[in-house]
Amino acid sequence: MILKKNEDLQSKYEELAAIDKRHFMHPTTSFKQQQEQGPKFIFTEGKGIYLKDIRGNWIIDGLSSLWNVNIGHGRPELGIAAMEQMKKLAFSSTFATNSHEPVIRLSEKVAEMMPGDLSMTFFTSGGSEANDTAFKTVRHYWELKGCFGKKKIISRKKSYHGVSVGASSATGLPAFRAFPSLAPDFYYVDSQIESLKNLIKEEGADTIAAFISEPIQGSGGVNLPPENYFKEVREICDQNNILFIADEVITGFGRTGKNFGMENFDAVPDIMVIAKGISSGYAPIGGMVISEKLKNELIELSEGVFMHGYTYSGHPMCCAVALKNLEIIEEENLIGNVRNMGDKMQEGFKWLKDRHEVISDVRGMGLLGAIELMKDKDTNTSFEQPLSVKVVEEALNHGLLGRSIIYEGQDTLAFAPPFCINKEQVEKIISIIDTSLTKVLKG
Ligand code: PMP
Repeated sequence: MILKKNEDLQSKYEELAAIDKRHFMHPTTSFKQQQEQGPKFIFTEGKGIYLKDIRGNWIIDGLSSLWNVNIGHGRPELGIAAMEQMKKLAFSSTFATNSHEPVIRLSEKVAEMMPGDLSMTFFTSGGSEANDTAFKTVRHYWELKGCFGKKKIISRKKSYHGVSVGASSATGLPAFRAFPSLAPDFYYVDSQIESLKNLIKEEGADTIAAFISEPIQGSGGVNLPPENYFKEVREICDQNNILFIADEVITGFGRTGKNFGMENFDAVPDIMVIAKGISSGYAPIGGMVISEKLKNELIELSEGVFMHGYTYSGHPMCCAVALKNLEIIEEENLIGNVRNMGDKMQEGFKWLKDRHEVISDVRGMGLLGAIELMKDKDTNTSFEQPLSVKVVEEALNHGLLGRSIIYEGQDTLAFAPPFCINKEQVEKIISIIDTSLTKVLKG
């Protein structure tokens, strides 16, 4: 796919593409595809909702890259925050009670934004590490309480929690678990509350440490929970002494129009896992936030050292960047804009559904949305070749980067543009989807 050709730019692309193929092992990529086609894009620049590639194309970043560049591209303030911090103190360890101001200020800011009594943060470099941290913390907690059997982690089918051994074991998309010897003691339930109740009954509450869920499943297809689901989850967890972990890696820090996704569903977890939006992708940082209650119990019960810490737990530059990012989100009322533009985007999706027979469902919340495609919605028949893949390809020709999610007959287009998007830009996205869908269907 080449949108625009310019010989000089093309030769620069080719030079870099050859090196890429020789030396760069890509994440979540087909080795063969990389060798056959080279990098689809080599990005060079970003501004607001746009990304520019080396061949000179400006493209709408309709998924905020990996659902993470929430404030949008090209904010120099974050670069300045990084530089100032690195000039002063590039790194110091936070092991064994050592600390520094950016990590202290950021943990306070996170606590201020959190719902309920979630108040103490363990920092990581991203979401997978944060989920692993949560799994180890809950197991450690139950051991301290003398409940040595409580080890199992329950997650939901279609969930995505990351790719480290622990996080991929919790992921409810089987493709991510297609490796032998992942971690033991992970169980999956579908989204009916009865499934969770039945599993707890079968396995025994005294063997279960925690239940983990995204408020809205992202990589599994932007799936909203059934009504009252999390309220009931909260009750079931309380009744059975099971800790409730919310994975807010995508939904955290405003994506759904509230600070955190769970706030839409009236449930406060015991542990919240965060990443992505905390720094809008300008620096790699994530974390696990625990409740005041859990914190107090850990302090009271623990004797030795909690033997878990990453070199970059609370990296000073990442903390400084995250702080500046959260300041911008607040000062520019970007979450207010998520609500307004989110409504507009979801309305646009409904308009598309009325225009296209093949759209079987549209869903989402705030600036997180999905369009479900089906060959025949009356008979529940999917396309032989997923249509979303073709629509994403076509949309690129019109300057929109979106995502196709295919899972067990689900044929989904996902969008999650940056929070700084305006009305005209939302309309542009809707119009590109409309044009691309029409074109692909005409064949
Ligand atoms: N949890 C969720 C809900 C995610 O969407 C992701 C990343 N897409 C992760 C965890 C893993 O985060 P990371 O890639 O930063 O390890």
